[in-house]
Amino acid sequence: MTLANKKVAVITGGAMGIGAEAASALASDGHHVIICDINTTEAERFAQHLRDQGFCADAFQIDVGTPASVSAAFEWVEGKFGRCDVLVNSAGIAKTMPFLEFDADVFNRTMLINVTGTFLCCQLAARIMRKHGFGRIINIASVAGMRAVGKGRTAYGTSKGAVIALTRQMAVELSEYGITANAIAPGPVDTPMTKELHSDEFRKAYSNAIPAKRYGTTREIAGAVSYLASDVSAYVNGIVLPVDGGFLAWGAGDI
Ligand code: NAD
Repeated sequence: MTLANKKVAVITGGAMGIGAEAASALASDGHHVIICDINTTEAERFAQHLRDQGFCADAFQIDVGTPASVSAAFEWVEGKFGRCDVLVNSAGIAKTMPFLEFDADVFNRTMLINVTGTFLCCQLAARIMRKHGFGRIINIASVAGMRAVGKGRTAYGTSKGAVIALTRQMAVELSEYGITANAIAPGPVDTPMTKELHSDEFRKAYSNAIPAKRYGTTREIAGAVSYLASDVSAYVNGIVLPVDGGFLAWGAGDI
């Protein structure tokens, strides 16, 4: 397939973890993937890794919390490819601390990256998608946006709840342009983020609260991304798809 007729997928936070695996899956599905990340070194390295496997991939530096940086990235994408068919918002940050001591700056920073950043990327991508009458927006939310997952997630859980609300709003307003917007709510997944955030004790307790009794894999989240980005998901719009080993289904532990 030539560059001209390949679908283009932009993945924020695509250099690592869930975003990187989503980029891999979309590349094998035939997309030209753009790895957009604040970490340029890792983004370039990962794009090269995909190219070495014969896929079409580029890297572009983005800080989703800086409007000018988001604009520059989407201007570059439109200038170079003329299209943006798929957007996966995986860039995100998480810091935990008790509610009564929660630092307002950390709260604001989390909302800036996880919510405003997602909003800005969605808006600019959707403006390009609208010109082609096709688009797939996939936001990586979290089960923490649907339930309070343990203590300390005041900013993170709130931000992911907002991402879910944003997704539903876009599903309603963008449908007429052939654009769908859906969210995925992963349970815990082994990534650089959780390696830093989850202690051994937390990991054990969390696994026990999940019917599957384990963390998910990035591949299991990427499978959902792949489906929601595909042509056959056209009638799926505004959903939150939990990929959580049954965590949200479970209410009362081992009784
Ligand atoms: P990660 O920390 O392993 O990777 C996040 C990526 O985002 C990194 O490459 C990082 O450089 C990039 N990033 C951070 N800030 C950025 C910014 N301002 N602009 C652009 N890029 C930025 O995280 P992950 O575990 O792969 O998580 C990916 C997404 O999935 C996040 O939104 C996270 O909240 C969500 N999520 C993760 C889990 C989990 O258990 N890992 C569970 C539910 C939801």
